[in-house]
Amino acid sequence: MTEKNRGKVVSINGNLVAVEFDGYVSMNEICFVKVDGAALKSEVIRIRGKVAQVQVYEMTGGIKCGDEVEFTGEMLSAELGPGLLGQIYDGLQNPLPALAEQAGWFLERGIYAEALDSEKKWEFTPTAQPGATLHAGEAIGTVPEGAFTHKIFVPFHLLGSYTLKSIAEKGAYNIKEPIAVLTDERGRDLSISMSFRWPVKRAIKCYRERLAPVETMETKVRLIDSFFPVAKGGTYCTPGPFGAGKTVLQHTTSKYADVDIVIIAACGERAGEVVETLTEFPELTDPKTGRSLMERTIIICNTSSMPVASREASVYTSVTLAEYYRQMGLNVLLLADSTSRWAQALREMSGRLEEIPGEEAFPAYLESYIAAFYERAGYVRLPDGSTGSVTIGGSVSPAGGNFEEPVTQATLKVVGAFHGLSRERSDARKYPAIDPLISWSKYPGVIDTGKAEFCKQIIFHGNEIGSMMKVVGEEGTSLSDYITYLKADMLDAVYLQQNSFDLTDANCGATRQRYVIDKLVCILGSEYALPDQDAARSFFHRMRQRFIDWNYTEFASDAFRKAEAEIDSLYQEGQGAISSEAESLLKGGAQE
Ligand code: ADP
Ligand code: MG
Repeated sequence: MTEKNRGKVVSINGNLVAVEFDGYVSMNEICFVKVDGAALKSEVIRIRGKVAQVQVYEMTGGIKCGDEVEFTGEMLSAELGPGLLGQIYDGLQNPLPALAEQAGWFLERGIYAEALDSEKKWEFTPTAQPGATLHAGEAIGTVPEGAFTHKIFVPFHLLGSYTLKSIAEKGAYNIKEPIAVLTDERGRDLSISMSFRWPVKRAIKCYRERLAPVETMETKVRLIDSFFPVAKGGTYCTPGPFGAGKTVLQHTTSKYADVDIVIIAACGERAGEVVETLTEFPELTDPKTGRSLMERTIIICNTSSMPVASREASVYTSVTLAEYYRQMGLNVLLLADSTSRWAQALREMSGRLEEIPGEEAFPAYLESYIAAFYERAGYVRLPDGSTGSVTIGGSVSPAGGNFEEPVTQATLKVVGAFHGLSRERSDARKYPAIDPLISWSKYPGVIDTGKAEFCKQIIFHGNEIGSMMKVVGEEGTSLSDYITYLKADMLDAVYLQQNSFDLTDANCGATRQRYVIDKLVCILGSEYALPDQDAARSFFHRMRQRFIDWNYTEFASDAFRKAEAEIDSLYQEGQGAISSEAESLLKGGAQE
């Protein structure tokens, strides 16, 4: 055993403390600064000779030169094991409810709680036989955790191959009790339990291969799934000005997205919003299973009032938990809100380190940090042949909604889909406020690409006519242009916009989207016997209202059929005649 290294504080600059140490310390090593009887958790972020710069994850008032520092020899790490689901953690994986119980409403410094309940017994079922050859990331047994089968793994940090010497019998054990003994290649025995730690800044790579993310992750938001889709294992970002609906959109996604587990990283947003999440989520039921939504959710929160340094940790802790559940063959969605605040924390720390600043005073390594974070998303083949995925969706809140700033630009370079929220749309209460004119995606969606293109063209064309109309007025617009404008407006109102507070409308699955888009391609791709602009306006106005009513009916129900018949009869009334382009699109769709 090596003796723990110690050091003394030599200078203090906000959250950044310089420590002179003896012996050897390494980057990302955890240490504790002892002040007034409390030990404040810190991390080494730079080493120069015998001086380590450590960032303290707590309020640092009261630290003075000469205070003692103890290095632990461990990296900043997360505890992995059964019991993570349903938890509410801070960025350092302290369960907040447990902290509140210990310390009351106002946290004292230096209080840390165990991430996982070490008393709770879990029903363990062994799945590996003694004598089996095992590697890191392979399962040796399972425990039920809510609706999931939680796999118990050979800890990810074990290199090389191991032979299973013995394994516990089926029964109830807590996460600290030894459940198996492994023998390494040199014949040494190693006892393992159901939980282990993993350094959060390193990606978990216990998989056979990375696969291309090609399967759509349905979010049930029409605008996303049909036009700017996200793939399981892919990445996307939602930049938007303050108040444009980023948080509401993420919440809707976390409820309805077609994934097994959702991890919400509330990173540096105002406390009020986080409180909303915390009070809202436990009340909600999962629309898929009818159980509490919290059973498949983990919330990691670091509000703007918590120390900046722990924001960075919260981003990494959450992605580590996501990778852990992916290892079980599950599809995990990580929603980070907002990555701008994380970048601001990086900027603050970099300034204190007196590093040479890059654009807008962000550190020069901002891009590579952002890229490294999104790279931890992925669709992988696991050691047992099954697949799992981590999808990352990050919101970005650029000041003034200016997408040219460094964080948005760096994010755009690495993500596979971009959902740009616009102030114009949110001011007009067109939700979700994703702007179809600027958004893009590299992933395949749930509807036929030809039909998606057809609809996008109508939107682009309608927008051009709309801008022109602002100048020349309705009188100066030709009837055919005016009709295109009305069609685009209708498409926007009935398909792009969606009421996230209506249970039926908010949860629009792929089958329904495909069905509805066919109807839309037919309606928008038809010519009508409309003599003038007034007739056109009134016709499309009625069509739009019937369509919206249709959106609120449950798919394939009687009400659905009835509302559809209303649309069809209005179509007949307008003497709709389908264009050859729309007709061939619909035929192509039928052959699929
Ligand atoms: P941001 O996170 O971008 O700052 P929020 O997500 O908090 O913005 O949204 C701000 C407000 O906009 C919400 O409180 C809500 O009133 C409104 N809003 C956002 N999205 C929707 C939506 N889909 N439907 C209705 N109102 C919405
Ligand atoms: Mg927000």
